[in-house]
Amino acid sequence: SASLYVVATPIGNLADLSPRAAGVLAEVALVAAEDTRHTARLLRHLGVQVPMLSLHEHNEAARVEQLDARLAAGESIALVSDAGTPLISDPGFVLVRELRARGRRIVPVPGACALVAALSAAGLPTDRFTFHGFLPAKGGARRAQLEELSTRSETLVFYESPHRIRDTLTDIGTVFGERRLVLARELTKAFETFLEGSAAELSRRMEEDPNQARGEFVVMVAGAPPREKGAGGEVEGEALLAALLAE
Ligand code: SAM
Repeated sequence: SASLYVVATPIGNLADLSPRAAGVLAEVALVAAEDTRHTARLLRHLGVQVPMLSLHEHNEAARVEQLDARLAAGESIALVSDAGTPLISDPGFVLVRELRARGRRIVPVPGACALVAALSAAGLPTDRFTFHGFLPAKGGARRAQLEELSTRSETLVFYESPHRIRDTLTDIGTVFGERRLVLARELTKAFETFLEGSAAELSRRMEEDPNQARGEFVVMVAGAPPREKGAGGEVEGEALLAALLAE
C-alpha cells in the first residue's frame, strides 16, 4: 500500500545516502522537502526527477490533508529534511503524528543523524544520554535550562549553530564549571573536528583559532559525577547494599 517514507539524507558527505534511500527517492510519486531548492540539488546528484512539495514548520499542519489525500490515492511520498533524519530538530513531527493517527503506513529509511554520529565517536558514555536539541536563543532562558540539567548523570547532547556556539560555551562554563565536554564539528565533512575539554578551555581554543567556531556543532556534556555517599539517590542505595553484603 502507499506509504510515507521518512528518509534520512546526508549531513555533509553525499556518500552517506544509502542505496535504499536513493531507491525510495527514485520510486515515490512525491518528495515533501523542508527546502525544495536544497533537496533539488540532492535529487540532481542522484539523477532523479520527481515532483517536490515544501513542508516546513509554517505549513506542515496545512499540508496534512493534501498529503493524506495523495496517500489515499495510492501514491507513496518521501519526507526529507535539509540534512540528516527528519523530525530530529527538523520538520515532520506533526505530519507523522497526524498520518499515523489516520492509519497510514509510515516507513523509516534510516541514515545519517548528527547526534548519533557525534556520540558514536566522542568517547563519552552512551549507555544513557538525553538529547535536548537547540538551547534557547536568549541567554537567560538558556542558562535556566542548563541549570535544570546540571545535576543529570547521563550524557547531555545539544545542537548548536556557529552564530551561538561561543555564547553557549560561555553559559555552559558558568553552569557546569570544569565538567568535560566534547564538541563534534562539521561531521562527515572536510573539516570534521572533535575537541574536548572544559567549556573555558574550548572557548580559549576558539579565540586562538576562529576557524574552530565555524560550521555546525554537536555539543556533548559529560553527566554529573555520582553523588557522594549520604547525599541520597542511587549511590546511597548502592553503598547500603555493599554494606549489607559485607555483613
Ligand atoms: N535532522 C538533523 C539530524 O538528523 O542530525 C539535524 C537538523 S538541525 C536543523 C541542524 C543541526 O544539526 C546543526 O545546527 C548542528 O547542530 C547539527 N548538525 C547537522 N549536521 C551536522 C554536521 N555535519 N556536523 C555537526 N553537527 C551537525
